[in-house]
Amino acid sequence: MDFSLSVEETAVRDWVRTFVQRELMPLEQEVLRRERAGEPGLTGEELHDLQAKARESGFWGVQTPESYGGMGLSAVMTALLEAELGRTFVPFYFGGAADNILFQASDEQQAEYLLPTIEGKRRSCFAITEPGAGSDAKAIRTTARKEGSEWVINGEKTFITGGNEADFAMVFAVTDPEKGAEGGVTCFLVDRDMGWRSEYIDTMGEWGPASLIFSDVRVPERQILGAEGNGFQLAMQWIGRGRYLLPARAIGSCERLLSMAIEHANTRETFGAPIAERQAIQWMIADSGVELEALRWLVLQAAWQVDAGMDSRHAQSMAKLYGGVRANEIVDRVMQIHGGMGYTRELPVERWYRELRLLRIYEGTDEIQRRTIARNLLKGHAKVGGVLG
Ligand SMILES: Cc1cc2nc3c(=O)[nH]c(=O)nc-3n(C[C@H](O)[C@H](O)[C@H](O)COP(=O)(O)OP(=O)(O)OC[C@H]3O[C@@H](n4cnc5c(N)ncnc54)[C@H](O)[C@@H]3O)c2cc1C
Repeated sequence: MDFSLSVEETAVRDWVRTFVQRELMPLEQEVLRRERAGEPGLTGEELHDLQAKARESGFWGVQTPESYGGMGLSAVMTALLEAELGRTFVPFYFGGAADNILFQASDEQQAEYLLPTIEGKRRSCFAITEPGAGSDAKAIRTTARKEGSEWVINGEKTFITGGNEADFAMVFAVTDPEKGAEGGVTCFLVDRDMGWRSEYIDTMGEWGPASLIFSDVRVPERQILGAEGNGFQLAMQWIGRGRYLLPARAIGSCERLLSMAIEHANTRETFGAPIAERQAIQWMIADSGVELEALRWLVLQAAWQVDAGMDSRHAQSMAKLYGGVRANEIVDRVMQIHGGMGYTRELPVERWYRELRLLRIYEGTDEIQRRTIARNLLKGHAKVGGVLG
């Protein structure tokens, strides 16, 4: 068993680490100031310039296949890269990416949606959740009714990331109520100018998703992504594209937070000694260190399963669940170690505290991950001893 990184993995990791230190961390104070003033941390132009800078060194389309001009990096390399990006809260992501399900689009749709999305000229959003259907995605009620050569969409989607900025949505609607999720849900590519509107949802995070309202929105037949009736499978494929990537980012955030806590513990004195000398503080540092390492290996193991072409869903659920729960424990301890300063907006700890909370909710809540993990174990779909057992 070899836990060391390859030369290529080390090179990718080091490049991103340097990029984060040189290009992103210097922006942190300004990003904090803007977000606290209710403005985006980075303007679209700044994000674009940073992405262009990364592109000059080849960092573009991290998981986009090379045939589409991307890097086509492995899951393990992408997890390492995400962890590095997680070390800062500057809202940066590499350019050149597109939703995995758009690669299944027809040639005509690829030219209209996929390629401009990869180039950053168009912005998509993924819309399945509704006011009455979140964890239970099969309960969606948005309908698409066929009228001649058109489909007429009616319904409301909610909590849609990027829904305010997107110029087209991948919308999941019931086309055959009898069949429901078993062949009766279809995915449509719907441009904003076809008639849907969005409403911003204020959240405890620094950015908000949106509700999308469809009221008799008419779309031609050619807007169906994939085939009529296979929408639910496409939705599951989108959600399953990389659950390991969300906790991967949290690894970097927790590394940075724990480093802040260590520095503060070593320098803050109470009762004549640094608080680092108190067992209460040491235990918080120790537990956080252990959990961080456990999270790292859960994430990398899930990514390794993806690269090996194994059914990685169980491992990904474990990484997502553990990452959400432990990252929140860690940021809470780091806030505790900082005392009153941790609670202020002078430090980014409270910002991470709010941001990391989302990890326990979106793309499958803690409870839904536990449900999946328990089912797999109880029904024998996954072995108690894991892949080595
Ligand atoms: C910031 C943000 C961004 C999002 N982005 C998107 C997006 O881009 N696209 C999109 O389609 N959706 C998006 N979502 C929606 C997100 O995936 C859902 O909020 C999530 O799946 C939970 O659904 P819900 O909010 O309806 O909660 P519910 O499903 O109503 O759950 C409420 C509570 O009950 C628990 N629960 C539910 N069922 C069970 C069960 N069987 N057993 C035990 N406990 C259960 C849940 O875990 C939760 O604690 C986003 C949400 C947020 C907050």
